[in-house]
Amino acid sequence: MMERKRYALVTGASRGIGRAVALRLAASGYAVIVNYVSNRAEAERTLGMICEAGGEGELLQFDVADNGAVQSALNGWQERHEGEYISVLVNNAGIRKDDLLMWMPEDEWRKVLSVSLDGFYNVTQPLLKNMLVGKYGRIVNIVSLSGIKGMPGQTNYSAAKGGVIAATKALAQEVAKKNVTVNAVAPGFIRTDMTGDLNEAELKKLIPAGRFGEPEEVAGAVAFLVSDDAAYITGEVISVNGGIYT
Ligand code: NAP
Repeated sequence: MMERKRYALVTGASRGIGRAVALRLAASGYAVIVNYVSNRAEAERTLGMICEAGGEGELLQFDVADNGAVQSALNGWQERHEGEYISVLVNNAGIRKDDLLMWMPEDEWRKVLSVSLDGFYNVTQPLLKNMLVGKYGRIVNIVSLSGIKGMPGQTNYSAAKGGVIAATKALAQEVAKKNVTVNAVAPGFIRTDMTGDLNEAELKKLIPAGRFGEPEEVAGAVAFLVSDDAAYITGEVISVNGGIYT
């Protein structure tokens, strides 16, 4: 008998951590749905890398902050994949817009909250039903050190990620009986476009491991949480930060 195809959706998979997660899940046998918001060329590169490595995937463009756009993209996917469902969701899309609160305009506050926190709701809520009916699901939210300890200059980002951590813990308890786990991975400083403007030479002095992390090191934690080995782990936050104490 042919094995049933398993689908994993990774939001913000065109670059950085999302790309590394997409590649890792594809290598574990998932058909990976590569989401992006605007950078189609990089999303196509991710898909190309998946296919080159012998994996399978497809692109699905939507802005996680736009509920209508998410619903129509997910409905379209469902129509094209009748009888199948997305059993793994990695909520990875995120942005930063740093400012001291004293100087922070409302749009910087709202935009960061809406991509991370509303994005969590917009994508997770419609996918939950099939996970519950199918009695299997894995949800992994990419949060941040900033959402655990708070970082000056990032009240918006800390609030957004802290909110997703709390939602992770609450949802985990709602769905545990149905074999759906909900966990978070909290990276510290990882070398991606998002941290390209940071002074790595200075900041790495604060990191016990003495270096920034690589996207693949975050992907490893995600792959573990998605695996059968993590079936009894839910509502947890795993830090991947080179030893920064939280
Ligand atoms: P990145 O290199 O800036 O990539 C961001 C990704 O998110 C891109 O694929 C981007 O798509 C996508 N994206 C942004 N806004 C989106 C939206 N509204 N809808 C859909 N996709 C959207 O970021 P990264 O460093 O890989 O970060 C990934 C996640 O890890 C984020 O949640 C971030 O907060 C978190 N994180 C990162 C670090 C770090 O040190 N890098 C540390 C802690 C947490 P386009 O290519 O189309 O723009």
